[in-house]
Amino acid sequence: MALNKVVQEDMKGLVDGLHFGQKVERSLRLIREAYEEFGDRLVVANSLGKDSVAVWHLAKQVSADIRGFIVTTRFKPKETVKFMHETVAEYPELRVFSSDEPVEDRLYETAPDRCCDILKVQPIRRAIEEMNVACWMTGLRCTEGRTRTDFQEVEERDEGLMKLNPILIWHEREVWQYLALHQVRVNPLYIEGYRSLGCEPCTRITTDSDERAGRWLGTSKCGGECGIHTRPLKGDFQI
Ligand code: SF4
Repeated sequence: MALNKVVQEDMKGLVDGLHFGQKVERSLRLIREAYEEFGDRLVVANSLGKDSVAVWHLAKQVSADIRGFIVTTRFKPKETVKFMHETVAEYPELRVFSSDEPVEDRLYETAPDRCCDILKVQPIRRAIEEMNVACWMTGLRCTEGRTRTDFQEVEERDEGLMKLNPILIWHEREVWQYLALHQVRVNPLYIEGYRSLGCEPCTRITTDSDERAGRWLGTSKCGGECGIHTRPLKGDFQI
């Protein structure tokens, strides 16, 4: 079945309606179908967080040839930068994109949306163009927080660019279950108590039940999105 013909189901019903093994099988099937349809133009967006690392591992079970990209910024924690270098050394098919554009001091406090646009959204847009991506794959999950409840497993937010969210219906604990069972290495920052990782100035450890509550804490963007899942990624684009 062509990926864009996948019947949209009740995602919330599936979150608790399927068990772990069924979810893993479903994720692998979605990736397999996407790979059959898009081949080399199916690319993983690997943020180096636990969810992306799980998706990367799933994709590699479908084909060792599946490529990926990482978007990094000058504000990533040193642990994440080290983890990135180690990951790229292991998987040279992962390309790294970033922006050298100057940003005002503390723009992440005064205008975090603009900061994310420059440092995250623009490089992702470049990755999609330069890698000739027809379908990108993410680790987005609908149980992560208030901003992530309405996504679908297969989406076409930008015309001509499919998006696959193969672990959309996984719980946080199921991601850890998968990573533990497959002994997948993760960013050591999780040991300290972080549940969602981003740039250093915009990421905190919290005890909030919302998994993304520590992102952009104290700003208008608290618990929100950097924009890669909400902003246009193809076509004419002004920030
Ligand atoms: S997460 Fe923070 S520092 Fe990183 S790009 Fe966004 S606003 Fe800037």
